[in-house]
Amino acid sequence: MFAAKLVCTKCGEEYSLACGVYKCTKCGSPLDVRYHYDDIADLIQDNDPWFREHPHVWKYWMFLPVSNLKKAVTLNEGGTRLYRAKRLEEKIGISKLYIKNEGENPTGAFKDRGSSVEITKALEFHAQKVIVASTGNMAASISAYGAKAGLKVTIVVPEGTPEGKLVQAKMYGANVEVFGKTYDEALAEAERRALEDGYYLTGNYHYRVEGQKTTGFEIIDQLHFNVPDWIVVPIGAGTHLRAIWKGLKEFYRIGLISELPRIAGVQIEGYDSIVRAWKTSKPIEKITKKVPTIASAIAVKAPVDGENVLKAVKESNGYLDTVTNEETAAAGLLLGREGLFVEPSSATSLALAQKMREEGIIDKGESVVIIATGHGLKDINTWSKVLTS
Ligand SMILES: [Zn+2]
Repeated sequence: MFAAKLVCTKCGEEYSLACGVYKCTKCGSPLDVRYHYDDIADLIQDNDPWFREHPHVWKYWMFLPVSNLKKAVTLNEGGTRLYRAKRLEEKIGISKLYIKNEGENPTGAFKDRGSSVEITKALEFHAQKVIVASTGNMAASISAYGAKAGLKVTIVVPEGTPEGKLVQAKMYGANVEVFGKTYDEALAEAERRALEDGYYLTGNYHYRVEGQKTTGFEIIDQLHFNVPDWIVVPIGAGTHLRAIWKGLKEFYRIGLISELPRIAGVQIEGYDSIVRAWKTSKPIEKITKKVPTIASAIAVKAPVDGENVLKAVKESNGYLDTVTNEETAAAGLLLGREGLFVEPSSATSLALAQKMREEGIIDKGESVVIIATGHGLKDINTWSKVLTS
């Protein structure tokens, strides 16, 4: 294993990999896994079979904090296709537009990359039962990987979570508990239960980041180690965007790419805490009001990786903005015309790319990768309402 230690993303406090903390015990901020990057570079340099291998999460095992690969809990996650959307390119006026279709993962969402690593780590820590708070997709994903590993899974979801996602988690054998009105309330309950009842806590923590960063690795790999100008990522907790940026910087650091893309993050209207902080240069303030949204998977009032999103967007000279429910619905219908059925939150990335092109932030000649995070069948009720409205 090339992983070396955990470091707090805010105060820099260091922890050993074996310590089992979920966040910094000094300042409460998310932690980050650090590696012996020179050793990884030595391993990969001139390793032709590795370069030829088809992309999937565990191809990048040297960038993952797992001590025994034979015990990796996998359902063949990752390796999702990167589609070139020529009709959309013409419509929007972008020279190259690619869609990374994460709905092709085993449970229909990008979360499976992180769940594979998190549940593998849960076994390393000898966990017997795991708990997770979720708006639905993570619940289904952790339930599937927990089932594969033979662990007991409890998921805590807020009221109003789409039925399809709960049915999916229950089919994987999870115990589903509805708690609170928002994701943030469900999260506080899951963290309390982990502490008091001895559950292994899964969710948007450092080991999930490691699995999620493979989205970034795969995009580069699938573009034959060429770097797009922009990658557009929907923001819920912000962990996926943070993770993709981390992965890209790791490829850059060991010399696999010689430049970095710009990262654009998108929040849905009403849940715009990070965008507001970005535009006003003020600290991130938690959203207090619950507003109706078609993008329930990213309706997060207090994004745990908000600070890390700001950092990534600043470092990459990127961009942040919101899109409306109407813009998102329209983008979802456009993706449908490309043969891709994505869940509403996934369509926000296309909606933002369109907006950025209209405003001249994305240039006509630039190449753009948009992340579609989950399958449309995850939330057919919302699309059904869009079609009849
Ligand atoms: Zn700290």
